[in-house]
Amino acid sequence: MASFDTIIIGAGPGGYVCAIRAAQLGLKVAVVEGRDTLGGTCLNVGCIPSKAMLHATHLLHETHENFEKMGLMGAKPKVDWAKMQAYKDDVVTGNTKGIEFLFKKNKVTWLKGWGSIPAPGQVKVGDEVHTAKHIVIATGSEASTLPGVTIDEQTVVTSTGALTLPKIPKSMVVIGAGVIGLEMGSVYARLGTEVTVVEYLDAITPGMDAEVAKTFQRILTKQGLKFVLGAAVQGVSQGKKGATVTYKLRKDDKEATLEADVVLVATGRKPYTAGLGLEALGIEMGPRGTVKTDAHFQTNVAGLYAIGDAIAGPMLAHKAEDEGMALAEIMAGKHGHVNYGVIPGVIYTTPEVANVGQTEEQLKAEGRAYKVGKFPFMGNARAKAVFQAEGFVKIITDAATDRILGAHIIGPMAGDLIHEICVAMEFGASAQDLALTCHAHPTWSEAVREAALACGDGAIHA
Ligand code: FAD
Repeated sequence: MASFDTIIIGAGPGGYVCAIRAAQLGLKVAVVEGRDTLGGTCLNVGCIPSKAMLHATHLLHETHENFEKMGLMGAKPKVDWAKMQAYKDDVVTGNTKGIEFLFKKNKVTWLKGWGSIPAPGQVKVGDEVHTAKHIVIATGSEASTLPGVTIDEQTVVTSTGALTLPKIPKSMVVIGAGVIGLEMGSVYARLGTEVTVVEYLDAITPGMDAEVAKTFQRILTKQGLKFVLGAAVQGVSQGKKGATVTYKLRKDDKEATLEADVVLVATGRKPYTAGLGLEALGIEMGPRGTVKTDAHFQTNVAGLYAIGDAIAGPMLAHKAEDEGMALAEIMAGKHGHVNYGVIPGVIYTTPEVANVGQTEEQLKAEGRAYKVGKFPFMGNARAKAVFQAEGFVKIITDAATDRILGAHIIGPMAGDLIHEICVAMEFGASAQDLALTCHAHPTWSEAVREAALACGDGAIHA
C-alpha cells in the first residue's frame, strides 16, 4: 500500500497528460493502467495506428495517381501487408515507450493492473489498496455497436479489428459515416478494397458544416468509396465467408442487403467505466453512460474527478489532454480551464477536413447574423503545384463585429491550418486581423488569409 497526492485511473491522453502536469506542479502521482502499454486508446488502437495507416496508404495512392505526372517513372509499389502492419506497430511502440520514458522523467509511478475505487480516497489494484487525496477517472471509452450486430473482430470488426486484419479484404461495408469510419474506409479503399459506407442520416459526418460534408462526400466518391445514406441497419449475419448487412432505406422502408468480406462497425464510442465500482460509491452519471462532473471536473463525491472520453463533450484526444492539464492545475491549487468553444476537429483523410467553432447551420438556428468568407484551394499556387487543389477554406464571422465565430476547411494540411484560426479565436480576433497578417508565399496558409480577406473587401486570387 502506498499513499499519493493523486491517483489517476487510465493512461490515455487524458490520464497521462494529467499525471505529467500534476507531477511537474509538485504532486506525488501514480497512474493505474490495465493495458500492457501506456497511451490508452489513442496511442494503442486509435489516433496513432490509424494515422500510420493513412500515411502509408496516402503515399501509395500518390505513387499511383501523381508520380508519373511529375516525371517520376518506375515500377509502381506493391503492398507488403505484413510489413505495413509492422511499420504501424513500430510507430505505436515508439509512442507508448515514449510515455513510459516521460513517466520516469517526471517520477510518475505506474501501478500496473485494473483499478477500482472501493471507497473515497482509495484505489484498489490487484490485492493492494492505495490512498490519495485526489482520484481521477480517465478510463476512456469503448466502441459501441448496434442491436442485431455481434462483433467478433475477425469478420465483423470495430476500428480495433480493422487495424489488424490478417489480409486486405476484397470488400468492406462500413456502418457509420463518421470520422473513424471514413478514415478507415479511406485506408482500405486506397489498398484496393471495394468500400461501401452505410449511414443512417442523409449526410456524412453528422454535425459538420453542410457545405464541407457535401464536398467531402463528392471527393471520397471520386476516390472510389460508395455511399448508402438514409439507411437504417437492421442486422449483420455472418456466413462461411464474409457477412451480410441488411438495411432499410428510411425514405421508403425498402429492405436491401450488402455482402462483404469484412464489416466495420463505426457507429461511435461510449464511455468505459466498468469495474470501477461507481454505482456503490453513488457517483451521479450523465447521459449515455458519461460520468457527471462540475466545471472543475469533480464528481458529486469530493476529491473524485473525471476527464476525457469518460465525461461529456467531444471524444477527442486533445480535448482529453486539455482537461487533464486543467485538472492537474486545479488539484495543485491553480486555475485550470478548458475553452470548449475552441476545440478543433480533424479528419485525416486526403484531403484533410478540419473545423473549429460554430457552423452556419448552428448560427442560423441561433438567429445570429454572420458573414462568410470563402476561398478555394484552386486559387492557391502551392496546392495546385502538388495536385491538392480540391476544397476550400471557409471562415464565419459576426456580421457586426467581424469577430471569428468558426472555420471549416477541406483541403491539404487542413488539420494544421485550422490552428491559426484557433489561436485567432482564443485572442478574440476579427477576420481582418488574419487578413492583415503577412503570410509566406507559396504556402497553403495563404488560403486561410484569402478566406479572411473574403470576409471583408474580397480575396485577391479568387
Ligand atoms: P483512453 O485513451 O480511452 O484511455 C483510457 C485508458 O484507461 C485505457 O488505456 C484503458 O486501458 C484504461 N483503463 C480503463 N479502465 C481502467 C481500469 N479500471 N483500471 C486501469 N486502467 C483502466 N482522437 C483524436 O483527437 N484524433 C484522432 O485522430 C483520433 N483518432 C482515433 C482513431 C480511432 C480508430 C479511435 C478508436 C479513436 C480515435 N480518437 C482520435 C479518439 C481518441 O482516441 C480518444 O478521444 C482518446 O483516446 C480519449 O482519451 P482518454 O484518456 O479519455 O481515454
